[in-house]
Amino acid sequence: MTLFLNNYLNGEWQAASSPVHTLTDPVTGEALATTGGAAAGLSDAFAYARREGGPALQAMSYAQRAAMLADAMKLMQAKKDEYYAISLANSGTTKTDSAVDIEGGLFTLGYYAKLGAALGDAHTLRDGAAGILSKDQLFQSQHLMVPIRGLALFINAFNFPAWGLWEKAAPALLSGVPVVVKPATVTAWLTHRMVADVIEAGVLPKGALSIVCGSSAGLLDALTPFDVLSFTGSADTAATLRSHPSLARDSVRANMEADSLNATMLGEDAQPGSPVFELFVDNLVKDMTIKSGQRCTAPRRALVPKVLMHAVGEAVAGRLAAIRVGNPRNPETGMGSLVSRAQFDSAREGLALLAAEASVLFDGAAQPLLDADPSSACMGPTLLGVRDADAATEVHRHEVFGPVSSLIGYRDAAHAIDIAHRGMGSLVASVYSADNDWMASTAEALAASHGRVHVVSPEVGKTHTGHGNVMPGSVHGGPGRAGGGEELGGLRALGFYHRKSAIQAPASVLERLGGRSTALTL
Ligand code: NAP
Repeated sequence: MTLFLNNYLNGEWQAASSPVHTLTDPVTGEALATTGGAAAGLSDAFAYARREGGPALQAMSYAQRAAMLADAMKLMQAKKDEYYAISLANSGTTKTDSAVDIEGGLFTLGYYAKLGAALGDAHTLRDGAAGILSKDQLFQSQHLMVPIRGLALFINAFNFPAWGLWEKAAPALLSGVPVVVKPATVTAWLTHRMVADVIEAGVLPKGALSIVCGSSAGLLDALTPFDVLSFTGSADTAATLRSHPSLARDSVRANMEADSLNATMLGEDAQPGSPVFELFVDNLVKDMTIKSGQRCTAPRRALVPKVLMHAVGEAVAGRLAAIRVGNPRNPETGMGSLVSRAQFDSAREGLALLAAEASVLFDGAAQPLLDADPSSACMGPTLLGVRDADAATEVHRHEVFGPVSSLIGYRDAAHAIDIAHRGMGSLVASVYSADNDWMASTAEALAASHGRVHVVSPEVGKTHTGHGNVMPGSVHGGPGRAGGGEELGGLRALGFYHRKSAIQAPASVLERLGGRSTALTL
């Protein structure tokens, strides 16, 4: 019998309902699991999480909650083999690509467990020092951050069923805020399994973690003003959610992580075959093909000096040709599948749109697949070369969520920066050069439209963390098109799950806040 992914609400697993969605193996087409339709009783279930989960979590100190995160991480570390098997079957990813999601999620959980331990026995956070309000200096103001009274609803994307849960849940639970997660249906199995493991182990108090699989219907209707919503997914869905009355009228705090036309840039100082040229090419190929290009941070636009278009195109094409694409069960496979045939069709359609203003420099569709049928969701990597950098529009507008990148030739640094800005706000831009002055001024210019700027010189060629990798100590999120959100960034992430209030009081009262609070040092 096919596994049914049931909801966990009101502190108990809900009975299976009639299957509405089927999760499949994107390589073999095998049915893996099913989910039901709209969940019943969401308002009551959300009230339960606020009533039971919130107070139980908030009775603990930051250090106690951090210890809970560490326990959750440890128990999941012991079950990793099962998670890898689910990822292989449901996401069609190789072991290396599954690790980005699974190890990334557990690493982030461990990172917040450590940060939280350092906050000690406190229950609230002091933001800055007290400011004097009265002439006699007795009346002062202290900004105090207290955990929100509501819950955190996470609506997540299909590409990171593990990391997408824990990068949000770690700072939320550390803050003392109960979590309801709604994973993307197509890959909900791994999220469901991890949640089930943590619940079964009894690591968290009742009501601290709930899951809704299948339909998103009714989730936003069940939010009340003190809740928060953290969404990751497409810009179109983000736009729909923004107009919901919970956000538009009740001011539910929302963080949106949407799609992004990230850029990577090769410096003007590069010469074919030089160390920086090789670094750029190697990293572009890696970032295009990790998780088959299904990372929100993948470089969709690769900016190179116009005179180097041909040399970079040849070098990248050569590396892409060496990657075998197909069934991740075959050890020769370097890149697995897209997550579904629907994503495959969407990526091919997007590719056709971009190809109207670009030449195909490497066509992955012409390569044979390894142990996979052409009707599977496996898609070869494709490199495009934009014909006219100034006339092109779709390359700055349309995100192909697959192993596709477009080379764009720039004239000078100002032109390159202008092209990068045309993405109208992105998660990340990377810069490769051996010229420190050029890198510093370019990074500063790119910071205005990018949540993260990743700068690589040959000096850090072997040690940098990677354009596409999201490190929990650095903020993740970008302005404008990228959703305008901000996640992670170490303790900065806790801000979203706290309410900041200015306590205006006699100094003798403010002193007493110190017993339960700790200074927030970023
Ligand atoms: P999506 O179609 O927008 O779906 C995202 C989530 O929203 C899913 O859980 C989906 O549920 C849910 N959803 C869809 N319609 C909804 C509605 N009307 N109300 C409430 N929830 C709704 O995105 P996706 O295809 O899963 O993910 C791919 C996109 O995510 C890409 O564009 C990628 O760039 C972006 N992404 C961004 C980041 C980032 O950090 N910025 C990270 C990863 C991915 P169902 O699955 O049940 O439809």
